[in-house]
Amino acid sequence: MADHYDVVIVGAGHGGAQAAIALRQAKFEGTIAMIGDEPELPYERPPLSKEYFSGEKTFDRITIRPAAFWDERRIAMLLSRRVATVDADAHSLTLEDGSTIGYGKLIWATGGSPRRMVCSGHDLKGVHTVRTRADADRMLSELDGTSRAVVIGGGYIGLEAAAVLTKFGKHVTVLEALDRVLARVAGEPLSRFYEAEHRAHGVEVRLGAKVDCIVEQDGKVAGVQLHDGEVLPCEMVIVGIGIIPAVEPLIAAGAKGGNGVTVDAQCRTSLPDVFAIGDCAAHDNDFAEGAHIRLESVQNANDQATVAAKTIVGEEVRYHAVPWFWSNQYDLRLQTVGLSIGFDQCVTRGDIAARSFSIVYLKGGKVIALDCVNATKDYVQGRALVIGGLAIAPEKLADASVPLKELAATA
Ligand SMILES: Cc1cc2nc3c(=O)[nH]c(=O)nc-3n(C[C@H](O)[C@H](O)[C@H](O)COP(=O)(O)OP(=O)(O)OC[C@H]3O[C@@H](n4cnc5c(N)ncnc54)[C@H](O)[C@@H]3O)c2cc1C
Repeated sequence: MADHYDVVIVGAGHGGAQAAIALRQAKFEGTIAMIGDEPELPYERPPLSKEYFSGEKTFDRITIRPAAFWDERRIAMLLSRRVATVDADAHSLTLEDGSTIGYGKLIWATGGSPRRMVCSGHDLKGVHTVRTRADADRMLSELDGTSRAVVIGGGYIGLEAAAVLTKFGKHVTVLEALDRVLARVAGEPLSRFYEAEHRAHGVEVRLGAKVDCIVEQDGKVAGVQLHDGEVLPCEMVIVGIGIIPAVEPLIAAGAKGGNGVTVDAQCRTSLPDVFAIGDCAAHDNDFAEGAHIRLESVQNANDQATVAAKTIVGEEVRYHAVPWFWSNQYDLRLQTVGLSIGFDQCVTRGDIAARSFSIVYLKGGKVIALDCVNATKDYVQGRALVIGGLAIAPEKLADASVPLKELAATA
């Protein structure tokens, strides 16, 4: 007979781990299994392009909980196993090894796989994406033979990796197809600041750069060729151009969705007893005027996991969490609260040259997000402005001598 669990969680990452934790915290007494295709127990993914890649943290320090924690809470960990299909009517799923597992409730927490280049050479040895510990370990094992690296994509992961590589003394080129780095997630002042920081640390930042192909020599990467024919010689390529949500089995089973599986405010998919959380879940976000989006952040994965777990135990909850995010590059700690999508005004608060400032984003006169660089006080106090959607005059926001909490109190 097939194994059966009251709750099966697919994906042993941030969302999956938190779902199991939250179920037990909510006194759920049924059986729980977590199925993950990586060999490791759940670990933190952000350090893969930061402290783990740089060697500041060993793997032990980035595991979400020690092995004993999962045993004590009776969470069956089915690792190195991948779910291939879901049968929503039968409440069962099939693994790639052919075995079948039945579920009472299913929590889909599969994240996404890195988008790959489609040009020739994209799969050469020396070309990397950064999503798993195995990815980071592969890059680390090739560092000795690398003096020049090309990072394709000027988003957070690419820029973080570039910062670490410069620390290792590598010559780094960042290729960004758009006219500024971080263009999809931040306003222009922040983009220009990070561009300047990377240049100051010796990174060659190429904007409007279009990759033609990845050049091979002796079976491994030897360079990146641009559209105009120029070849940038290198021994390592890191591709950081986003992810594709891992939802095929659910969509094939009939769940609504496309770019992510569609969930409601309780993280329920359109399939009975099937929830989805984290990077793979497309939801109507209260902090984006209800826009149907996916968020790729630890905060979102954790908060949606908690909502799904509480819903399963019968609590009445809805997902309404203010988004937050961080990025570490060099000695710069960026903390973001809210979503700046669709802003119509942005105000710089503090002194960019002093490397401690915030960018406040407004829409229709109301504060919708802040990007705070080495400015934790603004980040902490700015949350209230975002949560309240407070209307504050730009000139007041620009005056860094007045704490944001005072502005919040008088708004
Ligand atoms: C390098 C890097 C840096 C980041 N930095 C930050 C940061 O600074 N701040 C921040 O907030 N966020 C950051 N993120 C994003 C954050 O890590 C993700 O948003 C978060 O991990 C999402 O959690 P999740 O549970 O949805 O997916 P994941 O943590 O990716 O977990 C999904 C798991 O499911 C597995 N899986 C997929 N399909 C199947 C299947 N069919 N069967 C079994 N298992 C499957 C995957 O292999 C994976 O192990 C970063 C991500 C990366 C890769």
